[in-house]
Amino acid sequence: MLTKTTATATATASLSVASALSSTTPSPFLCHFTPNNSRFFTPPNPLSNFLSIRGNTNKHNTYTNKNKCNNFGTSRMESFTIKASAQPLKNAEELISSVETFIFDCDGVIWKGDKLIDGVPETLDMLRSKGKRLVFVTNNSTKSRKQYGKKFETLGLNVNEEEIFASSFAAAAYLKSINFPKDKKVYVIGEDGILKELELAGFQYLGGPDDGGKKIELKPGFLMEHDKDVGAVVVGFDRYFNYYKIQYGTLCIRENPGCLFIATNRDAVTHLTDAQEWAGGGSMVGAVGGSTQREPLVVGKPSTFMMDYLADKFGILKSQICMVGDRLDTDILFGQNGGCKTLLVLSGVTTLPMLQNPNNSIQPDFYTNKISDFLSLKPATV
Ligand SMILES: [Mg+2]
Repeated sequence: MLTKTTATATATASLSVASALSSTTPSPFLCHFTPNNSRFFTPPNPLSNFLSIRGNTNKHNTYTNKNKCNNFGTSRMESFTIKASAQPLKNAEELISSVETFIFDCDGVIWKGDKLIDGVPETLDMLRSKGKRLVFVTNNSTKSRKQYGKKFETLGLNVNEEEIFASSFAAAAYLKSINFPKDKKVYVIGEDGILKELELAGFQYLGGPDDGGKKIELKPGFLMEHDKDVGAVVVGFDRYFNYYKIQYGTLCIRENPGCLFIATNRDAVTHLTDAQEWAGGGSMVGAVGGSTQREPLVVGKPSTFMMDYLADKFGILKSQICMVGDRLDTDILFGQNGGCKTLLVLSGVTTLPMLQNPNNSIQPDFYTNKISDFLSLKPATV
């Protein structure tokens, strides 16, 4: 069922009213799901607890709850107390036998851009042959699970859609988990993947790529109208981000009572080309955060929402999960926030000097060059 709607001209509220409303106390951090942002419904599902503060069972670090919530600033890193440095992975068999589920980040772990990383198919086959559950998690919201499935297929990997968890899916899953009313709409700042997942989940939406070419006509007395039925604004990476979208999303968040501000991720950079780093989803989220003075509910890594969802869906003990990723501040932190084992691979953005830099406080349990090291690493002989 196609549930896309067009923006209706129902609102007459002006920016000056919005400015007055902005004086309300902003939610301090994404981790706090305050009554202020749930005025028209209450999330009943325990999964929504991902926004609350959790104990961290990882043995390698301790940090304050406050800083765990503020999971994007450097202050978080400063608050870690390091108990142990990451160890090179020497006994892969021991790690594999202690884990029931491997969660893999994709870019930098499975592939780099459109190229498969050496040895990945054989490694995944070996893990499956040992009965391990494999899950693939990505913060990239531009594709839906189905679209990611096609990418895996193109690369020659046999991966089921049910094994793929993109932040586009997480946004829809989160709305489902809180019983987001079906008569409310979602305004999307982002690309096609978010729209596809919202549609599959049966939610009404507007915005997305359709608003990519829209411009503001600045003339005396001009007032942008917005749909008063928008109950959530979802912001993800958007190559067609513009001022129209910022203003529309801002009006919804500031003027529609209880309107949620959801971010698929706050990644600082992304890798559109292999020539340089490009501004990531965090830049779009930051713009809307700046104009609304609200902190978003983040559903992608390192927020634990997807981890909680996975554990719940598959009935997995988090202590039997190993998170494998190439980024410290998203993948490894995601695993640690969820109380899982963590393995950093050096096949992506993090180098060994970066891991071992004294200023880096995020230490995985283990590190290795690439996941195909699972095939060659044997227990050390005594
Ligand atoms: Mg990655």
